[in-house]
Amino acid sequence: MIAPQARHSAMKQAALWVILFCMPVRSASVPHNSRHTPSTQYADNSEVQSALAWLTRNLTWITEQQVRLTEIPAPPFQEAQRGVAVRALLASSGLEVQIDKTGNVIGELRGANEKEIVVLSAHLDTVFPSSTEVKVRHEGDRLLAPGISDNGTGLAALVAIARACHEAHIKPRRTILFVADVGEEGEGNLRGMRALVETYRPKLKSVIVLDGSGTDHVTTKALASRRLEATINGPGGHSWSDFGMPNPINALVRASVRFINTKVPVSPRTTFNIGQIEGGTSVNSIPYEAKLKVDIRSESEDELTKLDSALRECIAAGVRDEMESARDRSKGKLEWKVNLLGSRPGGELPANSALLAALRAADVYVGNQSRLERSSTDANIPLSHGIDAISIGAGGTGGGAHSLQEWYEPASREMGLKRALLTLIGVSGLAEEKAR
Ligand SMILES: [Zn+2]
Repeated sequence: MIAPQARHSAMKQAALWVILFCMPVRSASVPHNSRHTPSTQYADNSEVQSALAWLTRNLTWITEQQVRLTEIPAPPFQEAQRGVAVRALLASSGLEVQIDKTGNVIGELRGANEKEIVVLSAHLDTVFPSSTEVKVRHEGDRLLAPGISDNGTGLAALVAIARACHEAHIKPRRTILFVADVGEEGEGNLRGMRALVETYRPKLKSVIVLDGSGTDHVTTKALASRRLEATINGPGGHSWSDFGMPNPINALVRASVRFINTKVPVSPRTTFNIGQIEGGTSVNSIPYEAKLKVDIRSESEDELTKLDSALRECIAAGVRDEMESARDRSKGKLEWKVNLLGSRPGGELPANSALLAALRAADVYVGNQSRLERSSTDANIPLSHGIDAISIGAGGTGGGAHSLQEWYEPASREMGLKRALLTLIGVSGLAEEKAR
């Protein structure tokens, strides 16, 4: 939790922004929405202006880094090679860089106040297995490759913003950590962000997650989810000579039919998906094993817990039904278990947080509008600990995430980069703030 005193000063800072935004424009020489109105507290600082200009001048270089990083495979649990490339890029921006034991790449820009930390992060990993072709293809202005947008865009923005701060000699008030973290996707179960928050928790004030493309949203609510794997085992046998023996696949099918008939509320929105099913030996064998993987999500932890229990009850019932209908129970019975593969806790950014105020101020400055969203991202972890966090796109347009047809177009990237930089400076502050 943020100390009450820090929260108070953060609220004062937020209040300052609100005052600045809401001040009626009285002078024609200071038009509303002008680049020179104080729509962010720091945007007219000369170093910040210089960092923004650096981003504008180096859009081609940024796209080159995105292509290069995307072409280094980073399957789940194998992010090390891409991590080394990001380490070199962060080190060349004058940061002290280390790779922690989880595999997170952490570049430090020391602030005047080292007791307070803000994080800008982008995940290294993709959902694609190591056999996937990740060479980037160019079709006009469009770049195509698995992972090009999620999270090539976020990583490119991370290294670009670090470089822009370095080139512009920005000296933050709070220490900034630029982090390329591991394990965001799927069964990675947010392990990189978990480790990061665990390490820095007492000092951590804000986390800004860069994930994918776009500037249309800001994730402020963490969607809670669980991934479960059910396994049913039996003795196994021959399809003809052992007919009548309990069959784990039959039991799994019986259980699945029960589970998919579970009623879930529309509000709070609650969902489930049987995403994988496997088992069996051959067409003429009674299998000895069957498995299924289920993803459950809800706006409510209570509903999540109910659905978790429902799955276990359905598996138990499916096994019971299969045992009851088996003609030959003499050769053994079915066993079952349900394992938790992953769990993402929920949480929500307070509406009056300094981080949201900084993002809103940045949106005004760059002329962007964005909607609040609930989603499952790296921000779940800090939010679940009461630490301010958001997840945003890093600009440009993209689509086909998690598919082999994934694409990205950098044309409108600049706005996303500036929005992220200004939000970051908004929460880090500057070491020497000019009196105004
Ligand atoms: Zn992502």
